Amino acid sequence: MPSTLTRRSILAAGATLALPRALRAQALFDTDVVIVGAGPAGLGAARACARDGERFVLLEARNRIGGRVFTDMSLGAPYDAGAFYIHWAERNPWRTIADELGVSARDENAFPNGAWLSFENGAPVERSGRRRQFAELSRRFDTDQSDVPDVSFIQRVADAPDLLPGARGMARMAVGEEAERISALDYARLWSGDDLIVPQGYGALVAQFGAQIPVKLTTPVTHIRWDGRGVVVESAAGSLTARAVIVTVPVGVLAAGAIRFTPELPAVTQEGLGGLAMGALTKIGLRFDGARFGLPVNSNLWDESPDGGGVNFECWSFDRDIIVALFGGDFARAVLAQGERAAVETMLDRLTAMLGPQVRAAFMGSSVNGWATDPHAMGCYSHALPGQAGARAKLAQPVGDRIWFAGEATAVGDGEFGAAMTAGGAFLAGEAAVRAVRG
Ligand SMILES: Cc1cc2nc3c(=O)[nH]c(=O)nc-3n(C[C@H](O)[C@H](O)[C@H](O)COP(=O)(O)OP(=O)(O)OC[C@H]3O[C@@H](n4cnc5c(N)ncnc54)[C@H](O)[C@@H]3O)c2cc1C
Repeated sequence: MPSTLTRRSILAAGATLALPRALRAQALFDTDVVIVGAGPAGLGAARACARDGERFVLLEARNRIGGRVFTDMSLGAPYDAGAFYIHWAERNPWRTIADELGVSARDENAFPNGAWLSFENGAPVERSGRRRQFAELSRRFDTDQSDVPDVSFIQRVADAPDLLPGARGMARMAVGEEAERISALDYARLWSGDDLIVPQGYGALVAQFGAQIPVKLTTPVTHIRWDGRGVVVESAAGSLTARAVIVTVPVGVLAAGAIRFTPELPAVTQEGLGGLAMGALTKIGLRFDGARFGLPVNSNLWDESPDGGGVNFECWSFDRDIIVALFGGDFARAVLAQGERAAVETMLDRLTAMLGPQVRAAFMGSSVNGWATDPHAMGCYSHALPGQAGARAKLAQPVGDRIWFAGEATAVGDGEFGAAMTAGGAFLAGEAAVRAVRG
């Protein structure tokens, strides 16, 4: 129906335009900012809005906050199913938040070292020469980024075939992806520093922080329209208009088309998305009855198999009766494709081959955290494809001065993207997006 512009409505519109920007937005839109996703980035954005006096609405698809930082309690004792370390703690906002909340976060070296044992297909092996190989891998991959070309992990070790198995293993366990598909330059940009561990759980810390922030749970956003003034955000709870939207959903979710944009996103944003992908790092928690199979607290069993199916079994962290199986890459995708029950059986078979039949006798329960098949994550965290180290910067560009993508994939730190992939970086990206929205 065409609107009839009366003299009164024209006067009202004129009065609206004369108001300061913030008040004008109040008159025009349901809220100032809609934040999509209540993981670390969304929570960082929400806190920044609250501090700055911006009106906001935070919409979350899951029935909980925290996103990929989640402390799983389903086995009767906590373990982190996603993020575990507060990386580069010297400048990580989660360290400050832990201090403010009185939550213990301690240097990883403060915990006792258990056994480190290597196996191949369940049989114990001696791994000689590994120390020299790790030192050389670290030099090539963690070094000064100005020295690293934008090539794959494989090309980065092309002149040193003896480093190839190590580069493949590192790619799968650190990025969750196959070495052919990761940009060495993007990886070299990551910050390093002290790594802290939160005994109560990193996810529990994030949940405690977010408990005071208003959020609409179980509300997946399906459509964002930016064809008029501001944005219209459509979700399970209906339509909401806002001056701007901060989208913090993982890039895997965006690439899968879970949120439609009208009009389509500009070429630069699509190029950014196309240059990023997500790995498949997976954790399966296995609960035992108190039997410890002769392994001290904080032991690690590394079981390799020539087909790429390397699994690290982290045993009895914090003296809890849980072993966490950690694995990534195409092997993880294949394991998850079998279904949860078969995935647990695969891990129990491998533990049995290493430790004996008492493993099955003492097994009490499991929980599978397959982030790669989780529709609200679609992977563990982002990495740039070879030749695409510029992708994060492209995705971070605002769209029409009203859509901002923020999250671990766009985590800026002095413009160097060194905070990418992490919960700390996501929080910083959320805060930065709010500053940008304010202009
Ligand atoms: C196995 C594993 C280990 C990790 N280890 C570490 C570590 O040790 N240290 C570290 O710093 N980081 C680690 N990470 C990465 C860390 O978890 C992420 O970097 C961080 O969670 C990113 O935060 P985010 O807010 O960008 O995204 P997320 O945490 O994914 O939050 C995004 C939110 O958006 C929601 N969402 C999705 N779709 C929609 C929709 N349509 N509508 C509304 N909401 C939606 C999601 O449910 C989610 O809550 C790990 C991740 C995994 C999976």
